[in-house]
Amino acid sequence: MSENQEIHRVGIGTDLHRLEPGGGLRLGGVDVPFDKRLAGHSDGDIVCHALIDALCGAAGLPDIGEQFPDTDPQWKGVDSTRLVEKVVERVRDLGYAAVNIDVVIHAERPKLSPYKAAIAERLADLLGLETSAVSVKAKTNEGVDAVGRGEAMACTVIAGLTGL
Ligand code: MG
Repeated sequence: MSENQEIHRVGIGTDLHRLEPGGGLRLGGVDVPFDKRLAGHSDGDIVCHALIDALCGAAGLPDIGEQFPDTDPQWKGVDSTRLVEKVVERVRDLGYAAVNIDVVIHAERPKLSPYKAAIAERLADLLGLETSAVSVKAKTNEGVDAVGRGEAMACTVIAGLTGL
């Protein structure tokens, strides 16, 4: 994708999941070693879920809860990168493709800086983008609120789309 691709639509997505004891934390399709994981009907990958809602918002598609209801057994324990792939196809069917995304992960622990590059590479791969078009930032909540107390993690994503 060209560096100077014009952005025609933008979308924002957010997600928050509770943390529960046990391994299996996955962020943006990358396994992150930690003694807790994100609870959820799927793998709880807040980065993929926020990304999906950003892409859907930009493309005018229904949100993640409408497209992949958590009452539907076929999405139980699903690898959320599969849902991203499906949404990328749906966005493409409407004549759009991602130009860039900007991701902010809110997590008190573990320290995510060692994993930001791997997450950016995985997301770039899923979206068919250069890694320079994918920004991944990680922030703590300074001990404030449920994220700050380590009870949950949250993510915000903004996506820009171009018309194909
Ligand atoms: Mg979610």
